[in-house]
Amino acid sequence: MVRMAVMGASGRMGQILIRLIDESDSATLTGAVEREGHDWASRDLGAAMGGPPRGLIVTSDRAEALAASDVVIDFTTPAVTVALAQEAARAGVAHVIGTTGFSEDDLAAISRAAETGRIVRAGNMSLGVNLLVTLTRQVAAALGSEYDIEIVEAHHRHKVDAPSGTALMLGDAAAEGRGVALGDVADRGRDGITGARAPGAIGFHAIRGGDYVGEHDVIFAGEGERITLRHVASDRALFVRGALRAALWLQTQGPGEYSMLDVLGLAR
Ligand code: NAD
Repeated sequence: MVRMAVMGASGRMGQILIRLIDESDSATLTGAVEREGHDWASRDLGAAMGGPPRGLIVTSDRAEALAASDVVIDFTTPAVTVALAQEAARAGVAHVIGTTGFSEDDLAAISRAAETGRIVRAGNMSLGVNLLVTLTRQVAAALGSEYDIEIVEAHHRHKVDAPSGTALMLGDAAAEGRGVALGDVADRGRDGITGARAPGAIGFHAIRGGDYVGEHDVIFAGEGERITLRHVASDRALFVRGALRAALWLQTQGPGEYSMLDVLGLAR
């Protein structure tokens, strides 16, 4: 049984993780972490979740949770994840990162941690989205720059970052297919007198509202035709299943920063 700790235990993703780890034959929950001062901190996890006590106390002490675990699964915030990446690497604990919204500096710090640590980081853990990434790269390479690429995503009203991590993954794949860097061509959230569309731009648009779990369209708009690649997530458990698969997969890997494409065997 792989011993797993959950960061952000009370979060939308954290609670589903706890449920699916409990249901798993290959994993056991050995740590549940919440931020200091949170309602759940220092309480029995079972009671905090509104059920019978289960003898596992929710902790704010990351070192304690790491010491009891083989892998930590983390859907929290960038600052927490960056700190945890270094701590997990030092403790020899694998780290699955589902958090999104990182700055370039954050990403560099995570890559440094992966020089000695084992990390899977993915803006989206679902099989379907990772297939869509592969297809986006292929279609962008096949169509060339006379087809305008626009990425439209929709998420629930609580999401704090835009564009979504998934939209950026799709944008990276489209840019890679065209042999350009996304940073040079991204056009995020147009407003006002923007002028005509820049040739080769990759546009991003974010819808926020209600209970959307996550929807992504990659539109290739040409003269006389449009092609749309679409993924619709209707259940968050989808991402959690991917995260569990990544956590198990990491047990047999050496140090490095991996993506879901590596986990799923879709990397080129
Ligand atoms: P959420 O706000 O419901 O949960 C985050 C949890 O982290 C909260 O419970 C919060 O208290 C906790 N937290 C904050 N600071 C902490 C600390 N210092 N120690 C321990 N816990 C701490 O958010 P969510 O909807 O679960 O999403 C979390 C992240 O995961 C977001 O960045 C989101 O974009 C991302 N996400 C990624 C995927 C994917 O497939 N990669 C899927 C869904 C969400």
